[in-house]
Amino acid sequence: MGKVYLVGAGPGASDLLTLRAAEILKRAELVFHDSLVHPQTLALAARARKILVGKRSGRHSTAQSFINKRLVDAARKHAVVVRLKGGDPLLFGRAQEEIDALRRAGIDFEIVPGVTAATAAGAELGVSLTRRGLARHVAFVTPRAGQGERKNDWAASVLAADTAVIYMGAGLAEEISTELIARGKPKATPLALVESATLPGRRILRGTLADLPALALGTGGGPAVVLLGEVLRAASAEPVLAEKIEAILKRA
Ligand code: SAH
Repeated sequence: MGKVYLVGAGPGASDLLTLRAAEILKRAELVFHDSLVHPQTLALAARARKILVGKRSGRHSTAQSFINKRLVDAARKHAVVVRLKGGDPLLFGRAQEEIDALRRAGIDFEIVPGVTAATAAGAELGVSLTRRGLARHVAFVTPRAGQGERKNDWAASVLAADTAVIYMGAGLAEEISTELIARGKPKATPLALVESATLPGRRILRGTLADLPALALGTGGGPAVVLLGEVLRAASAEPVLAEKIEAILKRA
């Protein structure tokens, strides 16, 4: 019986992989990977057969139950099987279904964390998501729900959070902006859209919550996250505004 490694490939750039992930990829016999994984990351798995199993939202991808079954079958034939996922495997990656299937089948597994898109985007912006005095509450949300899934109140989390990072939301820009404004989020809330963070095709678009639909038209179809909150105002601040923020922080 082999072991299955659920490995985070990071947000894009292949050198944002952990040393542990790289070492496991070197030993891998079989790698089941997402379509967002960088070719140079895949190349580290020099000995492995590589199998693409999805997933870009809205496009054809392998059914989750089929992936689960393939992982179990692979571990019965191979010593080192890798399930390589974009970003961190435990965030918006359907890892739990795979973990449950492996547990049920009695297959040994290990999870290797990765750099998630939210922090990669923060790095591109030069913005702390938890800037002292402005943000102590960060929410990672997605408005996307799978077919037949219970609707989640993602907007309530965004309203409550000091900083929100919205995954898989660029295609829903209009809905996101309308819903949040209707529920009381100020139109002028500072916002950034970061597409293809850490990759050569990276784009950063800044504006306010009201601008989101227009900004989304400026993206090129790469993966993108929306960041929302006062920390973004501070980062793009002109000197005068920066001084005001410093003054607020001093009072706090
Ligand atoms: N497990 C991943 C998220 C998978 S869901 C993680 O931890 O990052 C896929 C979504 O992640 C995309 O729709 C997009 O919102 C975000 N994403 C992934 N890579 C990204 C990148 N390089 N730049 C911006 N957003 C990215």
